[in-house]
Amino acid sequence: MTDQVALAGVDSRPRTADRELRQRAGAVIPGGMYGHQSAGPLPPEYPQFMSSGRGARVWDADGNTYVDLMCSYGPLVLGHQHPKVEEAARAQAAQADCQNGPAPVMVELAELLVATVRHADWAMLAKNGTDATTMCCTIARAQTGRQRILVARGAYHGAAPWCTPRLAGTTAADRVNLGYYTYNDLASARAAAAEAGDDLAAVVVSPFKHDAGFDQELVDPAFARGLRELCDETGAALILDDVRCGFRLHLGSSWEPVGVDPDLSAWSKAIANGHPLAAVLGSDRFRDGASSVFVTGSFWFAAVPMAAAVATITALREEGAIDAMHQAGTVLRDGITGQAAAWGIEVNYTGPVQMPYLTFAGDADHGLASLFAAEAVRRGAYLHPRHNWFVSAALTAEDIDLVLAATDEAFAAVRKHIGRSGP
Ligand SMILES: *Cc1c(COP(=O)(O)O)cnc(C)c1O
Repeated sequence: MTDQVALAGVDSRPRTADRELRQRAGAVIPGGMYGHQSAGPLPPEYPQFMSSGRGARVWDADGNTYVDLMCSYGPLVLGHQHPKVEEAARAQAAQADCQNGPAPVMVELAELLVATVRHADWAMLAKNGTDATTMCCTIARAQTGRQRILVARGAYHGAAPWCTPRLAGTTAADRVNLGYYTYNDLASARAAAAEAGDDLAAVVVSPFKHDAGFDQELVDPAFARGLRELCDETGAALILDDVRCGFRLHLGSSWEPVGVDPDLSAWSKAIANGHPLAAVLGSDRFRDGASSVFVTGSFWFAAVPMAAAVATITALREEGAIDAMHQAGTVLRDGITGQAAAWGIEVNYTGPVQMPYLTFAGDADHGLASLFAAEAVRRGAYLHPRHNWFVSAALTAEDIDLVLAATDEAFAAVRKHIGRSGP
């Protein structure tokens, strides 16, 4: 790792270590890689292997440095190696991590989550967002004695057979109890609920529409209120999938500013600033259901991530991190949309400023987005052509300047490309 902040020359960036690791991975890891890194292949300019991170900077296996606008796809919210979070993790690690029973910090964290999130009367902890969304469904079914669960068409809720976006290896039976509605379309949710009849256990919804590869859509408050009413009328659980947004948009449930409280919510990603942890939070109405299900995992009671989560939530509050992300995200948005306008390129910059996504008009195959991202990453701005970006509270004015220098040149490359091959 180097602390040098100056970005290396565009074409002189070393790639040897990354190429060699990819080659070795190809022999011992199916497909060379899985998940995000295989689902929508990144342009070849992206490094696969990352070595280190500090604040809003990350270094790849070849020592090239980038300003991080992906934040490990969401978990990093205070920046890499946040001193207070890492100090809390180290202090807990010096005692114990994985034991016969949970450490005292589990109760401290549950109390802190219940105090921080308005709708929560209790908390359960797990490892991954998929654990949390799946547990929410299990608890809703246990509590209601019903089976049917409604999800928005195209929404991502994790990688288990009931919700993975790729059907390979799943069976029709995995989804036989799902019904589908369209995000922000209350009539479609009511129709799907009517079809479920008295078998409706839950409605799952994300705080805003953040389907990968599509322009993002903020929630219509009337839609959120309508889902709440639908669940109240039917006795179904309203499940908010706050895995991606939680503690990045608001220090509480992401729908608190909308004025709608879910019955159950799923959390992971940012809650422990990169340490592996997930949570299910719920209201008293679902406490019995939550008490009745059998859920566990070998590492679910590990204490280090819990200590990291307590420190993360405390730092988010003490450092005004939500406001910092909002401010940095606003500067970034204004800079990028201003550049696009100056280059005469039509773009959509959608979603909350802390979790933006950029698309180009008429770019159905993401060709322009890929060109833009490749040119940006070559110049040290690590963003993404098909997935929303994440702003962390560690992003400084200098970091944003570096990003904007890179994106301006990336827009220049797009302009040149359109000029050559466009209409
Ligand atoms: C990432 C994500 C999940 C799954 O979380 P994992 O930790 O990857 O299992 C679920 N829902 C949403 C909205 C997510 O962004």
